Formats: sequence, C-alpha cells, structure tokens
Amino acid sequence: MVGSVKTFSTEVDVNVEPLPEEFDPTAVVSEPLPPVVKNKTVVNGDEVEKRGREIVLGRNVHTMCLEVTEPDADDEVTGEREAYMASVLARYRKSLIERTKHHLGYPYNLDFDYGALGQLQHFSINNLGDPFIESNYGVHSRQFEVGVLDWFARLWELEKNEYWGYITNCGTEGNLHGILIGREVFPDGILYASRESHYSIFKAARMYRMECIKVDTLVSGEIDCTHFKEKLLLNKDKPAIINVNIGTTVKGAVDDLDLVIKTLEETGFSHDRFYIHCDGALFGLMMPFVKLAPKVTFKKPIGSVSVSGHKFVGCPMPCGVQITRLEHINALSRNVEYLASRDATIMGSRNGHAPIFLWYTLNRKGYRGFRKEVQKCLRNAHYLKDRLRAAGIGAMLNELSSTVVFERPQDEEFVRRWQLACQGNIAHVVVMPNITIEKLDDFLNELVEKRSTWYPDGKLQSPCIAAELGEDCCACACHK
Ligand SMILES: *Cc1c(COP(=O)(O)O)cnc(C)c1O
Repeated sequence: MVGSVKTFSTEVDVNVEPLPEEFDPTAVVSEPLPPVVKNKTVVNGDEVEKRGREIVLGRNVHTMCLEVTEPDADDEVTGEREAYMASVLARYRKSLIERTKHHLGYPYNLDFDYGALGQLQHFSINNLGDPFIESNYGVHSRQFEVGVLDWFARLWELEKNEYWGYITNCGTEGNLHGILIGREVFPDGILYASRESHYSIFKAARMYRMECIKVDTLVSGEIDCTHFKEKLLLNKDKPAIINVNIGTTVKGAVDDLDLVIKTLEETGFSHDRFYIHCDGALFGLMMPFVKLAPKVTFKKPIGSVSVSGHKFVGCPMPCGVQITRLEHINALSRNVEYLASRDATIMGSRNGHAPIFLWYTLNRKGYRGFRKEVQKCLRNAHYLKDRLRAAGIGAMLNELSSTVVFERPQDEEFVRRWQLACQGNIAHVVVMPNITIEKLDDFLNELVEKRSTWYPDGKLQSPCIAAELGEDCCACACHK
C-alpha cells in the first residue's frame, strides 16, 4: 500500500504513485547487497570455503538495522526528524522496486495493483474470532471474508451450508489448522507426510506432539504410494492423518490425491478411519486450471484444503485461505464470552485487510483471468526449462508445475541477486504471473555469462544432480 498520508482523516489523499513501466535499475542508487558472510572450513588440512550461508542466530542483520532514536526536543520545530524519516523511507522504497525486479526464486506474484485500497490503511480492521459469528468489535471485514470463502468453497465443491473456513495469516497457518482438525478428529491418529512436504507440516507434528511418519518420494517429488502403503500396513491399528501436497515447495510436485485415497482404501482404511489435509499453499489456485491435474474437490474424502493468498494471487501482505467441513469444526471450537464469538482459529486477532485484497483480486480477475495467468506461467516455465537445457544446464519441470528446478549456481552473490531458493545442489525459479519472458531472458543471459567464470580452467562442467532430479534431467559429463 503506497500512499502519502499525513493526517488522519476519512477524506484521504491517496497519492498512489504507479511503479514505472520500464524501470531502469541503474538509475537507482540501490543499497548494496549485504556482503556474503564467507564460511571457512578445514578439509584435509586446507582451508576451503563452505557452500552456502551459515545461519547464525542474531548475527546477520544488526549491521544493517535502522536504529530507533529518541526525538530531539526541537524536532517538531525544525522538521528535521520528519525529513530524515522521509528520506529513509524513500530510499527503502527504491530498494524495494529494485529487489522486486530481480526476484525469481520464491512463489510470489509481485504483480498487482491495489491502489484503490490505499484509502483503507487508516483503519484497524480486525476479524478476530469466527468469520461466521459477529463479534462485538465492529471494525471488521467479515462481509468480504465470507464472500472470498464462498468463492473458494465453490472452487473446491463444498456447499455453503457444509463448509467452514477462514482467512489465515499464511499457508502455514492453514496447514497448522488442517492438521489440528485431523488430530482432533483422530486424537490417536498418525500423521503421514511425504519427505518433500513443507516444513510447516513437520512443525505441526512437533507442536501437537503427534506421531509422524515421513513417506518417501519419487524423483519427481511426488509421494511414493508404494512406500506409503508399506507404512500404512504396519500401522493399521491407528487412524491415518495425511498431508497431500498440491505443489511441493522445492520441486512443485503434485501428489496424486486419487492414488493416495486408493492406497488407503486398498489397505483397509475406511473413510471414517482417515483424514486428508491438502496443502495447496503453492498451486492450490493453479491446479483447478490445469487440465490433467488430479482434481481437488470435497466430493472426494478429504477434510481440508489450504492455500496461500500472497503466492499465485499476489497480495501486499502474507495471507491464506483454509476451508474445511463444517462438521469437523465443532470438534475444535470453544465459545469465548469476551469476544461474544467462537474460537476455532489458530490466531486471535486476524488481519482484516487481507480479505479485502483477496476479494478485490477475485472480482477483478475471476476464473477466466486466473486461467489465462496459469497458462502463461506454464508456458513461460517451459520456455525457461528449454533454454536452460539448450545451454547445457541440468533442469527439470514437472508436468503440472511452473517450478523450474536446475543446478545450483556456484556463486552466492548471483543467487542473492536473483533471490533464488536453493537446497543442496539444486535451485529453483517459480514462474509466477509477474515473471515475463524478458525477465527470464535477462536472467538466462546473465546466468550463462557468469557460469563460464565459475568453473576453473574455463572448462564448463555441470555438477551431477541425478540424485535430486533423475538422470534424464542431469547434464553432467556422465549423464548427458
Ligand atoms: C509456501 C508454502 C507453504 C507455507 O506457506 P506460507 O504462506 O509461506 O506460510 C506451505 N506449503 C507449501 C507447499 C508451500 O509452498
């Protein structure tokens, strides 16, 4: 929300400056990227540099922090403080523009225009409590929230009088909520999740002290249902709570929901002995528009679905949507007199702005708009994968996905410049609607140019990534 607002009034002067169309990053005195903290380690008596960045609590950030200082007595007269703060913010805004332009690694659609909502930033909009029960706090946006929830319930085919849900603070909160319902429905249930599930699933298992079984994955990143079956057969006496990934974080793999259900049925788990939560944080809103994707629908025996609002949809603040069956929510909720509402959410206070942003985008784009964007993302992802391969760089793109996985660039500076997410030997780009062909070209050209300097003797040798992505996707000397 960009607005220049000096005084509180309902007549707001929202001076929303659009981002320049063709933004020239060289024109900006951008903050230099913080230096890479070099890690040395000793191997065979030699000091060598360690891969990646070491994570040290409380060390990385303090050198760059913007200190809070006490106002001087005469600041109000001189206006110096105001001017100082304005200059800090202006510089920060410039760096945001620059960092937004060079972002490829995280699945955030950074292309949106919510200028019309700038006028709302003066209100402390809070939807605390249950979306369907009005609390005594009146500055809320439940009317928008429930409208958005209805839209998602329809998308996932659950009747208005049969669903419950809320707008969460993020995809993680949806997962925490979905797994919690599973646990409340089956207090002695075992949580099954593929190894490549998002870390929030394993966090839920720790928080709720649940027994958790990690299931192997195929090389694509999908859950391996043969292994799943083995594990189920060993634990037939306990109900199963399953996390199904609608897009895994690193490889963008979509678990085969139908096969998961079939596996449960074949091992003797009747529908009243399992609970499925679908983690759609990444692709929950993309899969409905992909022809061959296994359909996520409450017509199948699933208990809940969640999605992140700031990923594919795009939103200035993190948010998400969680939808479940109304019948489950009573197991979870408690009445709270102080709120004159019911407590069935993970958080207490909830961001009341987020539902309005989601409502605004859904209205603006609608089904057709999303379908077009999904098609564009898949097309551009293929373009990126093909060009990487053509340049001799090992790369993989799952069929139902816009996440292009490839060999990890050997230079941390480059990784940080493009804000790539890395894990082990691989990195990825998640092609979101704001990632245009031009941007991909810039990235590719720079990658190819830099890459020639990363290997000694000018000899290009691709690292082997067959273990991560399979031999077919590897471009190393043995596999190409
Ligand atoms: C991003 C992501 C999450 C977590 O979502 P947040 O909104 O970042 O909390 C969960 N699962 C998957 C598969 C994700 O990609």
